Amino acid sequence: MKTYQQWQTLQTELSLSTQAYINGRFTPAQSGDTFACINPTDERLLGNVASCDAADVDIAVDVAKAAFKSGTWSDMAPGKRKRILQKWADLLEQHQDELALIDTLDMGKSISEMVNIDVPDSIDSLRWSAECIDKLYGEIAPTNKDNLALISREALGVVAIITPWNYPLMMVMWKIAPALAAGNCVILKPSEKSPLSALRIAELATQAGVPDGVFNVLPGYGHTAGKALALHHDIGTLAFTGSSRVAGMLMQYAGQSNMKRVWLEAGGKSPCLVFEDCKDIQAAAKGAATAIFTNQGEVCIACSRLYVQNSIKDEFMAALLDAAKAYVPGDPLDPATKMGPMVDKAQLDTVTRFIESAIADGATLALGGAPEYQEGQGFYAKPTIFTDATHEMEFVREEIFGPVLAVMGFDSEDEAIELANDSQYGLGASVWTNDLGRAHRVSRLLESGMVWVNTWGDGDSTVPFGGVKASGNGRDKSWHALEKYTELKNTWISLK
Ligand code: NAD
Repeated sequence: MKTYQQWQTLQTELSLSTQAYINGRFTPAQSGDTFACINPTDERLLGNVASCDAADVDIAVDVAKAAFKSGTWSDMAPGKRKRILQKWADLLEQHQDELALIDTLDMGKSISEMVNIDVPDSIDSLRWSAECIDKLYGEIAPTNKDNLALISREALGVVAIITPWNYPLMMVMWKIAPALAAGNCVILKPSEKSPLSALRIAELATQAGVPDGVFNVLPGYGHTAGKALALHHDIGTLAFTGSSRVAGMLMQYAGQSNMKRVWLEAGGKSPCLVFEDCKDIQAAAKGAATAIFTNQGEVCIACSRLYVQNSIKDEFMAALLDAAKAYVPGDPLDPATKMGPMVDKAQLDTVTRFIESAIADGATLALGGAPEYQEGQGFYAKPTIFTDATHEMEFVREEIFGPVLAVMGFDSEDEAIELANDSQYGLGASVWTNDLGRAHRVSRLLESGMVWVNTWGDGDSTVPFGGVKASGNGRDKSWHALEKYTELKNTWISLK
């Protein structure tokens, strides 16, 4: 790992691509418009990025459609596609420090996390999807002897992908890797708050041998580029990661246009349950702090609701406040920093508003409090913990997407499950217990796409990632991600 000083030097040598990437080359938006990309640590301008809209979407869709139809990618032997994707992964590895730096500068994520988690996970995700693609067999249905029925998986065509800003490279790769591996052509719209790494990897894709027009990147605002993609009649599939509010809008756009297939990875308000039979209270407290303060709380699976069995609550709170001391907001380029600034002023204002509402609703502030913002000094929030919270309070019900934790107590297992499930969301849950039976019982009853027992957030490319209820429908990662990006075809042949 490089030192703080080395990262600072590297940042001065960085050259950033800021134009859209269509048909294998950088191009300005048709309108010539740009938007400012700001470093949230010091509020300096990183670059003016092409602000794409419907006109650029039309061009990119035509290009991607032509590329798909030409078969240069979709008809390429899967083994050959695999080798190109693997070469791309090699290039990403060669540029791993640069990619880590770009996301840290763009959204304030700690450089240590970028180097240790986001970049390696993204590369692994690409390699994993690439490796799958020449191992995906079709089926022969068990029909009677007069017929032969083949069930095959086919690429979909042009896939639109819309991603959020909180894990810029990783959220992009979890979607584009399986979509491209399956033979589709992709138009990616990264978040306007962190578009830079997506533009860099597009250039590297071309270098690796991904044919022109197969992977296109359109930076732009949601209501311009994003909405135009979602309403486009020539896009058959849209895969989205972002808020539940926008996820709902995308379903409407699909209904208003061509009933495109919409896959949604949306918001969360994940619970963490700590039972009295949890043997290592220090480890559980550390886990609970990690689950809310990692990435400044800008994590879809952040456990922002913590339920502790009342018999151990006092002891646990002391351990939690101690564990929270590790999260001191600071320059994310310093490898020692575990908590950087919020992505922008709007996100900082959201955090402030929820902290004020928690206080107004009667919750007790145990740590942190409202941010003390000073212009030009970065969008820093404080790790914040409230006790005496209830489900009637807005900050307990709504996703904040910041470092704000609500702590509540419970007496019985049934009550813990009822409280955990009392949410519109169902993304992740963390359960701390040393009773094996309870671990299984509770995880089975939790309305959640993912459950972690005696840990939080762990996973790799082998397991699906996604939620239920307002947290969405499809799954990223694992074999199941490929299901989103392929269509089943049944070919029934009469042998008579
Ligand atoms: P967001 O919904 O505001 O934006 C996500 C993307 O959608 C961005 O690219 C944005 O430009 C685009 N968009 C916005 N309005 C649009 C519109 N009308 N039409 C089309 N596109 C539009 O979310 P965000 O603030 O970028 O990200 C934070 C959210 O993402 C949180 O709710 C978080 O929980 C969620 N998230 C979920 C997962 C998951 O896997 N479930 C992972 C990461 C983040």
